[in-house]
Amino acid sequence: MSHTLSQLMQFIEENDIKFIRLAFCDMFGVQKNIAIMASQLPHAVESGISFDASAIAGFANIAESDLFLAPDLDTFAILPWRPSEGCVGRFFCNIKYPDGRPFEGDGRHLLQTMEQKAAQAGYRFLLGPECEFYLFETDEKGRPTLEPFDRAGYFDIAPMDRGENVRREICLTLEEMGIQPERSHHEQGPGQNEIDFRCASPLHAADDLMTMRAAVKAIAAQNGLFASFLPKPLQDESGSGLHINLSIFQNGVNLFENFRTDPHPTAAAFLAGILRRIPEITVFADPLPGSYERLGRCEAPGVVSWSCQNRSSLVRVPAASGPDCRMELRSPDPSCNPYYVTALLLAAGFEGVQEGLSLPAAADYDAFARPAGLTPLPANLDEALALARESEFLKQVLPEKLLVDYLGHKQREADAYAAESKPYEYEIRQYFE
Ligand code: GLN
Ligand code: MG
Ligand code: MG
Ligand code: MG
Repeated sequence: MSHTLSQLMQFIEENDIKFIRLAFCDMFGVQKNIAIMASQLPHAVESGISFDASAIAGFANIAESDLFLAPDLDTFAILPWRPSEGCVGRFFCNIKYPDGRPFEGDGRHLLQTMEQKAAQAGYRFLLGPECEFYLFETDEKGRPTLEPFDRAGYFDIAPMDRGENVRREICLTLEEMGIQPERSHHEQGPGQNEIDFRCASPLHAADDLMTMRAAVKAIAAQNGLFASFLPKPLQDESGSGLHINLSIFQNGVNLFENFRTDPHPTAAAFLAGILRRIPEITVFADPLPGSYERLGRCEAPGVVSWSCQNRSSLVRVPAASGPDCRMELRSPDPSCNPYYVTALLLAAGFEGVQEGLSLPAAADYDAFARPAGLTPLPANLDEALALARESEFLKQVLPEKLLVDYLGHKQREADAYAAESKPYEYEIRQYFE
């Protein structure tokens, strides 16, 4: 919904909102924010709020450290887990240089640009994330442990499933914030849960995912729990994925309709474009060293394949009808920067559409058996980095500064991980909290 500043100021006044968080996503998918007093909002909208970008990993060097946050007025929400008197509101922001140019690392800007480019060619997209996460116990000092909150499994019910009330609270909170979670359930791993969203425009969906991760963490903490979005927090249990459902529309028509019986050439080319580029995109979709412990096991894909039928595939085209028709990409994990990943997926699909790419044969068999002839996804962060460095596609789509800074940072993480004799313990030490 679009709001003017004066409408928002009135709402803020009427609802006793005292603080405004200006939030953004850093390069590595972590939400950051600064609080301003509500009275400062007009100033923030007019001139932006400056911050020291050199203190944000990957964002800038010391010489050009001043960046500005420009709140997007369409993203306003109250944070319901904060006090109900003297409330806290939140905007997601674009990030700009002092002279107003967009900052190259700003994933929202990248995604907005990509959506506009496709819209000019007559295409729109809907995106629906399914996000998995673990709930862990905390110790007597409130610090996270690796003890799962329950021992339940896929679709279990209470009392085995101890997460039902936490998921309930999360879903109600998200609804209060104007986000529509559609489904939630216990996942395979002990303490593992999933929440799925109604499809939205890609930018909204990425914003909503940021909101969801914050809400899950906050509500878990209020319940004395710790929520983890690590791709593989427990060595011998299911990893956590971020399945991304995507559909492409032309003139209001969902081109994924009837895909199973009579695939529209544009939807087929879109899917083919994503399959072609996914190995290069993987360093963004699966960004942590431990992301690669998830892939290829426990229902997480390991090779590039698609299928209407089986869940071992990288891409599945589920049985659905009408507006629900879509493709489901199963490799990304919830530790990614959703703006970068979404922008790259749209770019890859759009490139396929523009080239009229044809779709390889479906792999309607168990892709976990790693049949010959299918391209494997990178086996570790190093391999993913090597593919990304060679990629002309990434060079074309991403600003050079973003790509160089991101890959440089990831290489240092990959090197540190490779030097460890106990990589799992290292991953937990480094990334769990
Ligand atoms: N947890 C699996 C993954 O890592 C997915 C399992 C499922 O959704 N059925 O992607
Ligand atoms: Mg699911
Ligand atoms: Mg799932
Ligand atoms: Mg799924």
